[in-house]
Amino acid sequence: MTPTPSIRTIGVLTSGGDAPGMNASIRAVVRTGLAHNLRVMGIYNGYEGLINGEFREMGPRDVGGILQHGGTILRTRRSALFKEKRGRREAIRRMNESGIDALVIIGGDGSLRGAYALSQEGVPVIGIPASIDNDIWGTHMSVGVDTALNTIMEAVDKLRDTASSHNRAFLIETMGRGCGYLAVMAGITCGAEMVLIPEVDVPLEEVATAIEDAYRRGKTHAIIIVAEGYRMGAQELSQALEEMDIGFHTRVTILGHIQRGGRPTAFDRLLASRMGKRAVEALIAGEHGMMTGLQGRQITLIPLSQVVEKNRSANLEYFEMAKMLAR
Ligand code: ADP
Repeated sequence: MTPTPSIRTIGVLTSGGDAPGMNASIRAVVRTGLAHNLRVMGIYNGYEGLINGEFREMGPRDVGGILQHGGTILRTRRSALFKEKRGRREAIRRMNESGIDALVIIGGDGSLRGAYALSQEGVPVIGIPASIDNDIWGTHMSVGVDTALNTIMEAVDKLRDTASSHNRAFLIETMGRGCGYLAVMAGITCGAEMVLIPEVDVPLEEVATAIEDAYRRGKTHAIIIVAEGYRMGAQELSQALEEMDIGFHTRVTILGHIQRGGRPTAFDRLLASRMGKRAVEALIAGEHGMMTGLQGRQITLIPLSQVVEKNRSANLEYFEMAKMLAR
């Protein structure tokens, strides 16, 4: 594949919330670009760095030894200015000044909205979905989700050991403000007694009854996974349950930011690498305004216009499955 004459230099940035596997994507973008004789610029600090011209040319060694680390070597930031047209105009001016012809933008839902806005303003852009919540439309999995799920699984396994030694109900809060994917999948993979997600409004009484039933059936503990976006936080839920007679004493663990960190799993490294490669090849082929997605086993391209229109929510079949397997 030879580069389209219009694209000689590409830029790569990470934006919004970080996700494990972002580094693997950066590495794949840089090395694929170099393999196709493009110049590759690393853009630091997300859209803020794009506006401020925080650019550095990347060679193959600059992305050595990063594949196995969480976080992002390009760092990430949120940028209020970029949401405004004048911010994006400044970003485009900086790109022109440095000869950057096209961008690969690695980030979550908000970052992809930013990518779409830039592409509407004429910049060739490919987005790579990276967000532990798995809330991005158009891909079965986003970069970082599998690692986050494995982190949750490890934590819940440990909490279960202590929960069953003391006859306790553990309320474990996972990330997922608008999407209960992590909570549902953790429910299945950790054998939770109950899963509470933003997509399904389970009343407090029902939660109490389910825990009490588990106690009556002779369970030595109860694990309840609560997604951040459920109608009440795990702490508040625990206080409410303590006032009801449910058999168990409750304990709360908010997993918080540990879910964002850690060594990316093999799945995430592969997904991130495949998407990074595909993103650069798409730009070379003159395709842009798109996002890389995983559909079945294939890495596909989906128009950003479709991605920003919808959000992906948890699959309720899996929600029901988690419930059934918790008997
Ligand atoms: P994430 O990408 O993890 O969802 P944010 O929602 O914070 O994180 O988005 C990251 C950045 O993307 C924002 O700080 C902003 O600069 C940019 N962004 C978000 N939404 C838009 C939008 N509608 N238009 C332009 N830029 C946006």
